[in-house]
Amino acid sequence: MTYDVIVVGAGPAGSIAAHDCARQGLKTLLLERCSLPREKPCGGAVMYRGLRLLDGKIPRRLVEQRIYGLRFLLPDNEIAEFASDKLIGITVFRDRFDEFLARRASAAGAELVENARVVDAVVSSESANVRLADERTFSSKYLIGADGVNSVVSRALGLRPRRKELTKVGLGMEADFHVGEEGVLQATHGNPSILELCPVEGRVGYGWVFPKREHLAIGIAGAGVHMRALRPQFDLFYRGVEKRLGIPLNLEKRRAFFLGGDGLGSKNVANRAILIGDAAGFVDPLMGEGIAYAMKSGEFAASIINKAYNEDRYDEEILSEYQDLCHKEFAANFSLATRVGVRGSSLADIILPRVNGHKLASEIMTMVARGEIGYADIPYVILKRLPREMPNIIKQVVQSHVSTTN
Ligand SMILES: Cc1cc2nc3c(=O)[nH]c(=O)nc-3n(C[C@H](O)[C@H](O)[C@H](O)COP(=O)(O)OP(=O)(O)OC[C@H]3O[C@@H](n4cnc5c(N)ncnc54)[C@H](O)[C@@H]3O)c2cc1C
Repeated sequence: MTYDVIVVGAGPAGSIAAHDCARQGLKTLLLERCSLPREKPCGGAVMYRGLRLLDGKIPRRLVEQRIYGLRFLLPDNEIAEFASDKLIGITVFRDRFDEFLARRASAAGAELVENARVVDAVVSSESANVRLADERTFSSKYLIGADGVNSVVSRALGLRPRRKELTKVGLGMEADFHVGEEGVLQATHGNPSILELCPVEGRVGYGWVFPKREHLAIGIAGAGVHMRALRPQFDLFYRGVEKRLGIPLNLEKRRAFFLGGDGLGSKNVANRAILIGDAAGFVDPLMGEGIAYAMKSGEFAASIINKAYNEDRYDEEILSEYQDLCHKEFAANFSLATRVGVRGSSLADIILPRVNGHKLASEIMTMVARGEIGYADIPYVILKRLPREMPNIIKQVVQSHVSTTN
């Protein structure tokens, strides 16, 4: 059977791409290695930037918490908190959220095949072809590799080296701790709408405590090269959280996984083929956030494939318009995040306490999370708003000076 598009992997990237391809009238096959719902190690925070692509149509049962702010715990017990009255994201369980996206693609007309593990992919001048572990084969006009950070498609097409470079990927470990609704309220001081980010001992990355309805999602992540002793570091971190929050945390299952990276430093298109999401390495190098980028890259891939299809073109040149779109949308965020990331959390430790409590800082955080601006736009927003904000800033500086001298 020949398809217009084969999408490999039904994570957020692949399911958005398959949905959009099918909606555009393309005969679409979505191949998923596992049966759904499948587990995915993840903190489960989906920023509003990604939710926007669903036009707010997300079933309430999937929403664990509605998120309105971020809290950073800094060394010396300092806290920087930024809250908004606008929704900046939600927390979810990835197995259910991802299944919803895959079924949504199927409802839009994509043919979803579960338990379909792709082991090889080849593109020729006539077609794109994939082979499954059970020897089934499928061909199509276009191929989308959405098979995550260990992408078989990217390696089979020669777009990534066979061996993973630990300097270019991150590594994380996380667990969901059942504490009940009361426990979540206690852990969040009665406000479960805030995502908490904290330093990890040894400064290898960062940790998080994300509230869900009856669970706390707790995890650590950092550069792959620094995360060799992941399990003891994770245990140390969650035991520290347990002590700080005063809530018993019963560990059921630790989950570890690589985080994608270096998406804009590598080629993500070939004749007839496009890589998206973690397979392309589209993860924020500072925060490890990847769901919204995965979804957005899925949307871009579907739109460029639709354009190429209408022009009856299959060449790398037309598909590289996808790469241009991703560069335009993600480059500023990723390069700034990389620069801050290289300096480690020390830079954040210096900046965050200084902007803590400023209305403008909360507004900027909200705009970034909602996808209204990128990291690179922050200086322009500050410059534009500075005249209006100056009296408040002076007032806050004077107040803090008075309180320290008293
Ligand atoms: C510990 C950890 C915590 C994280 N927390 C967050 C967070 O809170 N918020 C956030 O935004 N991001 C987070 N991320 C990053 C986020 O999980 C990823 O960026 C996101 O899942 C990427 O989506 P994707 O669709 O590209 O890939 P995936 O979600 O990995 O989906 C890939 C799909 O392809 C399937 N597949 C793989 N190989 C094959 C094959 N050979 N054949 C067929 N199917 C295949 C897989 O089964 C899977 O369903 C976290 C990552 C880690 C490791």
